[in-house]
This record gives sequence, C-alpha cells and structure tokens, in this order.
Amino acid sequence: MSLPVVAIVGRPNVGKSTLFNRIIKKREAIVDDLPGVTRDRHYAETEWSGQSFVVVDTGGYLPQTSDTIEMAIREQVEIAIQEADVILYVVDRASGITNWDAQIADKLKRSQKAVMLVVNKVDNEMMESDIYQFYGLGLGDPIAVSALQGRTIGDMLDILISQIRNVPMPEVIADEDAIKLAVVGRENVGKSSFVNMLIGQTRSIVTDIPGTTRDPIDSELNYQKRKYLLIDTAGLKRKAKVKENILFFSQLRSVRSIQRADVVLYFLDATAGPTRQDLRVINEATQHRKGIVIAVNKWDLVPKDDKTLFEWEKALRERLGSYSYIPIVFTSVLEKIRLFKLVVAFFCNFPELLGESSNRFL
Ligand code: GDP
Ligand code: GDP
Repeated sequence: MSLPVVAIVGRPNVGKSTLFNRIIKKREAIVDDLPGVTRDRHYAETEWSGQSFVVVDTGGYLPQTSDTIEMAIREQVEIAIQEADVILYVVDRASGITNWDAQIADKLKRSQKAVMLVVNKVDNEMMESDIYQFYGLGLGDPIAVSALQGRTIGDMLDILISQIRNVPMPEVIADEDAIKLAVVGRENVGKSSFVNMLIGQTRSIVTDIPGTTRDPIDSELNYQKRKYLLIDTAGLKRKAKVKENILFFSQLRSVRSIQRADVVLYFLDATAGPTRQDLRVINEATQHRKGIVIAVNKWDLVPKDDKTLFEWEKALRERLGSYSYIPIVFTSVLEKIRLFKLVVAFFCNFPELLGESSNRFL
C-alpha cells in the first residue's frame, strides 16, 4: 500500500516544526528500534480518521547565512511541488502577509498541486478575525490553527484528510502485475549510473510511463519474462541546487518511492559508510514490509585486503540490528563488479519470497 506524502512548507519561524510535532504527536506509527534514529527527524508516518499518511517538515533544512535562505526556501517549495501529494502551506497570523509569503503563494498557485493554507499562531478566538487578510494570497480558505496550543488541529486534519482522498494516487497509471522497484539512497552514491546501466543492459522494452503533473515518471521493463516498473526514474535526474536542500530532496524522494515500491534497492557509498539518515530510511522501508537489498557501491575506491569485505559487512550488519538479515551486495557500477548479483537480488527479492530465504544471495 502506498501512503500519500504531505509536505509542510513556509518561510522561517511561522511554526512549521511546531505544527509537524503537533501532527505526529503520539500517533507515530513507526517505532524505531535503532539508536539515534528518532532524533532530528523531519518526516514521520501518522494517521488521522483511519487515513495514514507521511508528513515531511521542511523546517529543519535551512542554510546558516541569511542571504541564501530565500533561495533555499524557494527551492524547497519546488521540491515539495514535485514530490508531495498535498502541501501544507503555513503562514503566521502575527506577521500578516509578507512579500515572501506572496511569492511562495504564487509558486504554489501555479503548480496546481493540492495546497492547504494554514494560518498558524491563532492562539485564541479573538485572533480568528485576523485570518481574513490571508484570502489575499489567492489560495482559498485559510485554516486557522495554533500549533503551539494544539488549537483546532483536529479540524485542520479533517480538511487535510479530505484533500488527501481527492488526490489520485500514482499507482492507478501503473500496470497492476508489474513488480515495483525503487532505487533510493543519498546524492552521488551511483543510483542513476545503475539505473542507466540496467535500462541499457536489459535491452528489452523500456517504456517511459508518463506521469501527470504531480506524478513521477516510471520506466517499465521486462526481465526474464516478468514485468517490472522502475519507480521514479525521472526523479533520479532531478537534483537540489542549494546544499541544505540536497538532504531534503533525497529524503522526500526516498519516502515517496518507498511508499510506492514492492522492493527497494538502497545504495550506500562504500567510501562514506552508512549515515543515520541511511539507517532511518532502511528502517522505514523494512517497517513497511518492503523487500530490501543494500548495495554498497563504489567498492572499487576502497583500499582492501582479503578481510575488508567481511569486516565492512559485519560492521554494517551490526548497525542494522534486527534487520541484519537484509541482503548486502558490494558493487562497483563503474567497474561492473557484482552487478549481475545485484540485479538478481533486486529483481527476485520481492516480498512473496522474503520470508523463506531472504539470505540466499549473500
Ligand atoms: P519554523 O521555523 O517554521 O519551523 O517555526 P518553529 O516551529 O520553529 O516556530 C517558530 C517560533 O514560533 C517558535 O518560537 C514557536 O514556539 C513559535 N510558535 C509556533 N507555533 C506557534 C503558535 O501556534 N502560537 C504561537 N504564539 N507561537 C508559535
Ligand atoms: P546518484 O546521485 O546517486 O544518481 O549518483 P550518480 O549515478 O550520478 O553517480 C555519482 C558519481 O559517482 C558519478 O560521477 C559516477 O560516475 C560515480 N560513480 C557511480 N558509481 C560508481 C562506482 O561504482 N565507483 C566509482 N568510483 N564511481 C562511481
């Protein structure tokens, strides 16, 4: 099952992170069992009125220097438009409409994305009348909340759920029989190199499945008489320009691709090792009962002797904790090392097979 992705955007200090915490409070479906995983998290799965969704906060990703903040936020809004199903656009009652708010609103209006205009810091009834000015943003009815006090958050979530239910989920355009594969991982680990290789090598029919404005573009391919759908191959080409947004982009893209996938291929960089974000995403994919394979790529760059692979694998399995059963393949996409093994592990590791012998490719 694929969960809709909701992104919270807006300029700094309007209360995005407070709202994020309010929305996920005590309703977090994901119970992390990896140490350090819950800290500095910017997305979580949650539920309201029986509807689950993933909520992503942009609040945490900001450059330190003020002259780049504006550019960063503009890009965050673009990323949210590309990768989210519904956008919660947060403005601040106390400060009214700033130039900045108006610019973001224009971008959102042009996107034809489902957008909810949330006026935060409406801490009591007296302040309700202040929200009418926000009709001026042209994004429909402003919804008054106080993230800090928890005021009318339930009403906002009711509206959010009705918006979510109106958004067509991307699966409807995909072939029902196709096994959905997602290649995820941080920037520059070799994902697009691998996907290009795969699409080139299979030499079978690769069809770009065109998305609507809000859908990513997938590629369909046949391998050993089965149909596969490589999810969001177009998203691999998009990159964030602002440094602080690179993580935001890869996280939002990962969350969304994982939601849609049956099997996830998670790329790690052998020269860098797994980060907390890597472990968190792997953890999440596993929680969602997705088949998962880890590729430790750029293995060619690691100075090694006959123990290096064993030690790397042992250390990674320890960090994976209860998920240490996940198949791990050490690869070099560039030098074509163990790529066949990786392809087989990826293509054959769909959930039906996971239970019996997920370790068979080790
Ligand atoms: P972000 O930068 O948009 O993520 O904003 P934060 O969530 O960090 O909040 C910025 C400031 O606004 C903090 O001092 C919050 O305590 C405050 N704040 C957030 N929500 C509310 C609210 O509903 N009412 C009031 N009065 N203050 C709020
Ligand atoms: P993506 O951002 O994850 O899609 O990464 P790319 O596929 O764009 O690769 C980033 C860079 O790493 C490119 O310069 C690739 O040529 C390089 N690269 C990819 N795979 C390998 C590998 O196995 N070994 C080495 N040495 N470089 C690689």
